[in-house]
Amino acid sequence: GLRVSDLHHRYGTREVLQGITLHAPKGAVLALIGASGSGKSTLLRCLNLLETPTRGTLQLGDETLALRPGADGALHCPDAKQLQRWRTRLAMVFQGFNLWAHRTVTQNITEAPIHVLGRPRDEAVARAHALLERVGLTHRRDAYPAQLSGGEQQRVAIARALAMDPEILLFDEPTSALDPELVGEVLAVMRGLAAEGRTMLVVTHEMGFAREVASEVVYLHQGRIEEQGPPGQVLVQPRSERLRQFLSGSL
Ligand code: ATP
Ligand code: MG
Repeated sequence: GLRVSDLHHRYGTREVLQGITLHAPKGAVLALIGASGSGKSTLLRCLNLLETPTRGTLQLGDETLALRPGADGALHCPDAKQLQRWRTRLAMVFQGFNLWAHRTVTQNITEAPIHVLGRPRDEAVARAHALLERVGLTHRRDAYPAQLSGGEQQRVAIARALAMDPEILLFDEPTSALDPELVGEVLAVMRGLAAEGRTMLVVTHEMGFAREVASEVVYLHQGRIEEQGPPGQVLVQPRSERLRQFLSGSL
């Protein structure tokens, strides 16, 4: 699982993460909720080091990254190799799919396994086809992204993330750019991943999904965790008035 301790992040002088501590045990699904600007995306970006946190400790399996300014005041970042290894262990799926427009669906999925993990091409292609089957897109494997619906593109993005065999899947509002009728097919794939025991952190506004699938709901407010617990508690009997209001506005 993933352990996060006292994680801080600052943009300029604004501290947008103010000491996040959380634990995602193996197989857990954490739903991250909170108002716009509360720091949800920043948290995910810090977890896979798209942003270098200003301070904090990340622990995945037996690898620990302690991020803190050294005696000289400069931040001691992981080196490039450590960074790349870390990122393959936590794969991110974005709101906007981010597929390569000039590569086919299959090529989008095989690119990183071949070039980052050094897998043989044949093996990477076979694995991509297996993943496409499981997200229901076998018939689209030679298409280009522009020929796909948003829901199909997002399912390709999920297959691409899975192709790296990550230990943790990070989703940043994976359905919020989709037309309403396409949301269900992406959530169905995510439900399947949760059911097979994948460890996932999901930023979402889909409260139905959070209620049914999450093992824990984490409510962020201004860069802090204000409330967390099982969905039946946090979503049904919120303790704080602020969360109550947030939920009544988003249900
Ligand atoms: P949303 O629900 O709108 O996606 P969020 O919870 O994901 O919001 P973040 O994107 O993490 O929020 O942003 C947290 C705060 O950090 C916001 O106030 C935002 O304006 C600020 N912020 C985010 N990215 C940057 C950046 N690259 N430079 C400066 N400030 C940033
Ligand atoms: Mg965001």
